[in-house]
Amino acid sequence: MDFFNILLYCATNQCSARIAPVSTNASNAVVKAGSVAHFDVVIIGAGAAGLMCAFTAGQRGRRVLLLDHANKPGKKILMSGGGRCNFTNLWTTPDNFISGNPHFCKSALSRYSQNDFLAMVDRHGIAWHEKKLGQLFCDDKSRDILNMLLRECEAGGVQLHTSVSVSAVQAQDTGFYLATTLGPVSCAALVVATGGLSIPKMGASGFGYELARQFGLRVLPTSPALVPFTLSAEQLAQLDGLSGVSTAATVRCNGVSFAENILFTHRGLSGPAMLQISSYWQPGDAIDINLLPELNLEVELAAARRQQAKTTVGNWLSQRLSRNLARRLLQWWCPHLLERRLADCSDKDIGLLTRHFCCWRLKPGGTEGYRTAEVTLGGIDTDEISSRSFAAHRQPDLYFIGEVLDVTGHLGGFNFQWAWASGHACGQFV
Ligand SMILES: Cc1cc2nc3c(=O)[nH]c(=O)nc-3n(C[C@H](O)[C@H](O)[C@H](O)COP(=O)(O)OP(=O)(O)OC[C@H]3O[C@@H](n4cnc5c(N)ncnc54)[C@H](O)[C@@H]3O)c2cc1C
Repeated sequence: MDFFNILLYCATNQCSARIAPVSTNASNAVVKAGSVAHFDVVIIGAGAAGLMCAFTAGQRGRRVLLLDHANKPGKKILMSGGGRCNFTNLWTTPDNFISGNPHFCKSALSRYSQNDFLAMVDRHGIAWHEKKLGQLFCDDKSRDILNMLLRECEAGGVQLHTSVSVSAVQAQDTGFYLATTLGPVSCAALVVATGGLSIPKMGASGFGYELARQFGLRVLPTSPALVPFTLSAEQLAQLDGLSGVSTAATVRCNGVSFAENILFTHRGLSGPAMLQISSYWQPGDAIDINLLPELNLEVELAAARRQQAKTTVGNWLSQRLSRNLARRLLQWWCPHLLERRLADCSDKDIGLLTRHFCCWRLKPGGTEGYRTAEVTLGGIDTDEISSRSFAAHRQPDLYFIGEVLDVTGHLGGFNFQWAWASGHACGQFV
């Protein structure tokens, strides 16, 4: 179908209602009814990657239209990092990313590093601090990062329109035609930056995956990641009263482990270590948790049996874990040992305690799903995409960036760094 036939098709089919501008705000309409606005680049999705790509292309002199169906740009930036946006990580390397092709992210990450983003943050006078493990947060608010990106977009002459839906995308001989609620739009290059599926109420949609499939690109199975675990009613009953308790632990699943805090919640387990391991967990898998990672429990207990003979197991463990946690878990796992004096503990008792506290094998019932997941695992197969330009191999001038791709970062600012790096790389090509 050529371009004019598409217009005719849209004018005579159900999308005719959609291509008429719906905005009552005249300044929000880029297209008058009946005309087609042309841009060098249209970007769908004004999140982290879309904003980055938009200003990078705009500042190269490209005429850029940035569309989002949400009523505001960058909603996830605003809610990130507990309102302070963990915007990058000082120690970003390709090892911090999960993908069917672990090499794919290397090129973009090396061309736009955490230091490049940090230099822009500094140029804009945004105060920041390292919280821990290289994680950089705003001193003040996430909005500082969004405002910085919007200022850069303004400097690049980017036209940003929110509350806009795209109902059809059609390839032309060169470029694309889009039916949007702003009216018909054509462009030489189309960038899809619609993110993953997490937090649907913030605007997440599967649109990017659908578009990829429309153009014959493979989409790998998706699942929620960096997500809290839920436990069965039975397990929760055993952990009653622990909601809000946080403790250092090492967690392991499918050969990967993380050492950070875990947090007991009223639905199950969360906290950085559990969120991290959720990206490696499949339904039905067990997770091994060491609640005393700093101790060689067997050796310490054997020594304590001699040196603190009168201390009870409950009290001894309460000095190493919180009292509430130690006693609750003892009541669950080995209630007969709770008040036993260390002197009376056999080697078998010590072995039992070590097995439970250092190798707690837990089978979660599931996860909280996309409702609370920070990211989506899987997505568009990176084998379909150029790691240099982010163009689809089989559809020139169609680009995919950010979380919609099968690249998922660990917790700690890595997902934003991927959004910045992929957005920047693509913005230099379109
Ligand atoms: C609660 C929470 C906290 C987080 N905190 C951090 C953190 O501190 N550090 C970190 O590195 N990462 C964090 N993340 C992850 C990070 O937010 C994402 O990885 C990142 O935003 C992905 O960028 P993106 O541009 O690819 O997608 P997004 O930022 O999700 O942007 C996608 C945009 O596309 C729009 N869109 C979707 N569908 C359509 C459609 N059909 N039409 C038009 N527009 C559409 C959406 O409205 C959205 O604006 C957090 C995520 C969540 C949910």
